[in-house]
Amino acid sequence: MEQPARYPIHLCQPDDTKSCGACCGLYNWLDHSKETRTLLLESNTSLFFSLGETPDPDVYRELRSEFSPQHKLCDTIYNCEFIGFLDKSRKNIGCLLHPALHHGVDLRGCSFYGVEMCDGHFCPSYSSLTVAEQDAAAAAVDDWYLYGLVITDIDFIKEFFNIVQNRLGLKRELFTKPAIKKALQDYFQLKECWKFASRGSRLGKYCFSRAEYHIARIEYEKSWAIKPSRFDKILVSLASEFKTPADICAAELIIEEKINALIAAYQEG
Ligand code: SF4
Ligand code: SF4
Repeated sequence: MEQPARYPIHLCQPDDTKSCGACCGLYNWLDHSKETRTLLLESNTSLFFSLGETPDPDVYRELRSEFSPQHKLCDTIYNCEFIGFLDKSRKNIGCLLHPALHHGVDLRGCSFYGVEMCDGHFCPSYSSLTVAEQDAAAAAVDDWYLYGLVITDIDFIKEFFNIVQNRLGLKRELFTKPAIKKALQDYFQLKECWKFASRGSRLGKYCFSRAEYHIARIEYEKSWAIKPSRFDKILVSLASEFKTPADICAAELIIEEKINALIAAYQEG
């Protein structure tokens, strides 16, 4: 995918340490753990290149249909069979049909979405995140699995930066200093190890039920007669499911720690 001039950062493939494949359906599986996603990408890649340097997509598709079926999160979102690893070191993921892999020959015409859609799609993160937010998020994550989860979650990034900026009294975003990379990494890492994450059909703030999905809510008033958390957007983005108000307090403490760590890193830096 070529990067249009209006977007200075290529969020899909920002550098050679990671890339994203979220809109190709990478996470649209009931079990979207890193382990199963790695297996899927590995299987796709091995099968694809076992058919030669520039395989016939139809032959690949037919052989791939013999893979064991997996349960999708949302039936109406397409999970593309052509997503795989793009490099030998297994750091970058993306489209196995892309012309960059086939001496300029574009094979995406054989895909479900076709060349025009695959080439021209730029998700809302491109326009909703500021360039500073995009830059900071891309710089802080060096792993394809976490990167895709983070870069597509606008609330998760924006809300955290807004809170930190407000507390620091900053009018401009200044989150690209190297000193704060570690603090940002620790916050983003919550996506993979959130102790209050729902075990249901969730991906970030979205709740799925077969053919439909909606934005989840935490029912503070209804469940416990309390006010919404000051970190509500972040907690929803983390797919939180709480059993007691004490759980919410514990979760808020964790977020508070991450905010304080970033502020401290910023001030020291
Ligand atoms: S979800 Fe966005 S960043 Fe990720 S591959 Fe798609 S367009 Fe690129
Ligand atoms: S063909 Fe399109 S949807 Fe499929 S992996 Fe390539 S870019 Fe993604």
